[in-house]
Amino acid sequence: MCIFCKIIEGEIPNKTVLENDNFLAFEDISPQAKIHVLIIPKVHIQSFNEMTPNIMAEMTSFIQEVALTLGVKSDGYRLITNIGQNGGQEVGHVHFHLLAGEQLGSIN
Ligand code: 5GP
Ligand code: ZN
Repeated sequence: MCIFCKIIEGEIPNKTVLENDNFLAFEDISPQAKIHVLIIPKVHIQSFNEMTPNIMAEMTSFIQEVALTLGVKSDGYRLITNIGQNGGQEVGHVHFHLLAGEQLGSIN
């Protein structure tokens, strides 16, 4: 079982921000901004490459709810999903990084 599936199963503890039947948002263990949350589907999907339009549509609404819950929706935030080796993906369970809480620098 992958590390994020273990988090979903409760085998590895996490700091949950928001959860519903299909998605989980939790704090990144190694934050790269004042607010750094990971958002994942509860079903194991390797990367954005394997996402379906239906799951992505549901995930869009969930991510917007997470931003609202964190109180960052109006000030702004950044969403990142790393895909595969060149994208720097380290965990093989699709996840969106939500970075916020400060003025973020430019990427790359
Ligand atoms: P990636 O490089 O795959 O896009 O991002 C993986 C992210 O997962 C990293 O930001 C890393 O800090 C985070 N991470 C890895 N293991 C754990 C863990 O056990 N718990 C939490 N909360 N985050 C983790
Ligand atoms: Zn998984």
